[in-house]
Amino acid sequence: MPRKLFVTTALPYANGSFHIGHIMEYIQADIWVRFQRMQGHEVHFMGADDAHGAPIMLKAEAEGLAPRELVARIAAERPKYLQGFHISFDNWHTTDSPENVALSQDIYRKLKAAGLVYTKRIEQFYDPVKGMFLADRYIKGECPNCGAKDQYGDACENCSSVYSATELKNPRSTLSGAAPVLKSSEHHFFKLSDAKCQSFLRIWIDTPGRLQPQVANKAKEWLEGTGDKALSDWDISRDPPYFGIRIPDIAEEKYLYVWLDAPIGYLASFKNYCAKRGLGFEAFLADPAAEQIHFIGKDIIYFHTLFWPAMLRFAGAPYKVPDHVYVHGFITVSGDKMSKSRGTGISPLRYLELGMNPEWLRYYIAAKLNAHVEDLDFNPDDFLARVNSDLIGKYVNIASRCAVFLGRKFDGVLAATEHRLLAEAQAKSNTVAELYEQREFGKALREVMALADLANQFVDEQKPWELSKQAGAERGLHEVCSVAINLFRLLTVYLKPVLPKLAEDAERFLGIAPLQWADSAQLLPSGHRIHEYRHLLTRVEEQQLDRLFDTASVPQASAPQRHAEKQQHASQHAAKEQLVTPEITIEDFAKLDLRVAKIVHAETVEGADKLVKLTLDLGGPTRTVFAGIKSAYALQALEGKLAVLVANLAPRKMKFGLSEGMILAASGESPGDGPGIFLISPDAGAQPGMRVK
Ligand SMILES: [Zn+2]
Repeated sequence: MPRKLFVTTALPYANGSFHIGHIMEYIQADIWVRFQRMQGHEVHFMGADDAHGAPIMLKAEAEGLAPRELVARIAAERPKYLQGFHISFDNWHTTDSPENVALSQDIYRKLKAAGLVYTKRIEQFYDPVKGMFLADRYIKGECPNCGAKDQYGDACENCSSVYSATELKNPRSTLSGAAPVLKSSEHHFFKLSDAKCQSFLRIWIDTPGRLQPQVANKAKEWLEGTGDKALSDWDISRDPPYFGIRIPDIAEEKYLYVWLDAPIGYLASFKNYCAKRGLGFEAFLADPAAEQIHFIGKDIIYFHTLFWPAMLRFAGAPYKVPDHVYVHGFITVSGDKMSKSRGTGISPLRYLELGMNPEWLRYYIAAKLNAHVEDLDFNPDDFLARVNSDLIGKYVNIASRCAVFLGRKFDGVLAATEHRLLAEAQAKSNTVAELYEQREFGKALREVMALADLANQFVDEQKPWELSKQAGAERGLHEVCSVAINLFRLLTVYLKPVLPKLAEDAERFLGIAPLQWADSAQLLPSGHRIHEYRHLLTRVEEQQLDRLFDTASVPQASAPQRHAEKQQHASQHAAKEQLVTPEITIEDFAKLDLRVAKIVHAETVEGADKLVKLTLDLGGPTRTVFAGIKSAYALQALEGKLAVLVANLAPRKMKFGLSEGMILAASGESPGDGPGIFLISPDAGAQPGMRVK
C-alpha cells in the first residue's frame, strides 16, 4: 500500500536569507522525501515563507519599504538556494496569502466556538514615541536582580534570572530610546491549560512512534509542570500597528500573533498546491491513511508538540493532528583552530557562488545525521576527507576503474553476471531502506560505504587492468567489469536520496531509466549497453574550503537555550544574516589609527534627532565628533565613558560643524534588525590616547 505523505519543514522567517541551519533542515527532509518517492509513495513536500510579525514590519519600515515589498524581495531569492542544493519542495508559498488568511481565521473561529479562546485585559509596555506595544526583545534596562545594564526585557544575560519586562529598572525602548509607559489592552488567549487540551496532549504525545523519546519527554515535562512551571495559556493577539491577519468577527482592529498563523502556513501551502494540481485538500486530510509530518529544529519543540496539535485537534474537521514531528539539533562549525583562521559560519550562498558541489554538502550532512536531537558539527577537514574518500575514492571509483575496459573491448555491452557480492549488495536493500525510513542517514551511508569497500576489494583482487593485457582472459575481464558496473548501479540506488544529481548522471552513463528503490531487486541483464564513462564528480580542494571560510561571519542557528520555554516564540525570528565583506590584508588594517578616547562632554545637536556632539579626550589633545547614537544613550551616561576613535579618518564637514573622526559602535544593518546601538568600549584601565590594534 503506497503511503500518503504531507511533509513540511519549519517556515523560515522572511526577514533574511537562508542560513546554513535552514539548508541543513531542508537537506534532511529532502533526503527522507526523496527516499519515500523512490518507494513509490505519494509525497507532498511543502514549504513557505513566514511573512508576518513585528520584526518584518520594523525592518521594512527601516528600509523604507512596505512589509510586502520586503517579503517579496526575500521570496525572490529563495529558488536560488533551493534549486542550488537540490531541495525538491513540491510547493513554496507564503503565510501572507489568501489561503492562510482563510485558514487562520477559520481555525480561530473554531477554537473560539470550542470554548478555547477568551479575552483578558493586560498591561504591557508601550512606546509612546513609536506608538506601539513593545515585545520583550524591544525593551532594555537594568536587571532587577543584579543591576547589570542593557539587559533585555525577559532575562538577564549576566545573572540568568528571568523576569518580566515591567520589572526592569530604567527601561527604555530599543526602537526609539524613549522610556516605555504601561498601557492596557484587551488580548485574546488560547486556553492551553484547559483540561481537555491536556488530556488530548497526554495521549497524542505518548502515542508510540509519534515523537522521538527525548522530544516526548520534554513535551511531557512541560505538560505536567506545576506551580510557576504550569502550562500557561497563550496570548494569540497583537494590537496595531502589526503586519498580520485580522482577528475576525470583532469591531476592534486586532491581529493574530504571527506564531498562530505561521504553522497554519503549512496547510496554506498545501491548499495552494492542491488547487494548482486539482487535488482535494480536505479529502486528503480526511483520509485516515494520510500522514502529516513536520521536520523542525529543537528550538521550536514547545510550539509544535503543544500548541500546534492542540489547535488542530480542537479546530476539528477538516484539520488533522500531526502524525509525526521529527526534531533535529543545530549545526555548528568546529571551533578552536578554525575560529581564528576561518571564522565560524558557513554562508550557503557563498558555498554555491564558489562553485562548490551541493552534493558534497548533502553527503556530508547526511553522513553525520541520525534520528536523535543532536547537534551536528561541520568540520572542514573532516568534510574534505569524507567526501573525497567516500564519494570519489570508493563510489565513483568503481565505475571509473571498469567502464573504460567495457567501452574499449566490449563496445559497452555487459556480460551475464552472477556473483555472491551482487547478492550481498541486493540483500542490503531492506536494511538500508529501514535506516532511511528511521532518519538514520549516517548509518545508512555506512552500510553503503561498506558495500563500496567490498566492491573495490573485488576489483583490486581481480585486477581488470592486468586481465586486459592477458591473452585468453577476455571473458574473465568482461565478467569482472560487468559485476563491478552492477555493483555501482546498486550503490547508486542506495545513494540516490542523498545524491540526486549524481544519480541522474550515473543513470545516463548506465543507459537506464530513473532508478526506483525496487530496482535493487534486479541486475542489468547480459547485452545491456552502457555509455562512455565521463567524469562523474570532482574532488573537494582545500583551497575551496579556505575560500568558504575566509570572510568574517557569525555562528548560525546555535543560539544558546537560555530558558527554552520563554524563548520558543522569538528564536525562529531572531535569525541573523551573515556578514560577507571583501577580504583585506593586514596592511589594509594597519592603515587605521584606532585610539582609546574618553568622552568628556556630550551634548545634543539642534536639528539632528539622531546625533550627539561628543568632546573626546585623547590623553591631551581633544577632538569633536558627531555620533549617531542618540537613540541608544542618555547624554549623562556617555560622559566619562571610554570609546574607540578612528583617529585618522579625514575630518568631515557637517551641517552642524566639523566631525574629526568616528567612534566605533555595534548595531544591526538597520534599526529593525536588533536591539539597538552598542558603543565599543575598552576594558577598565585603558588610557585615553592608547593605540588599538
Ligand atoms: Zn542580572
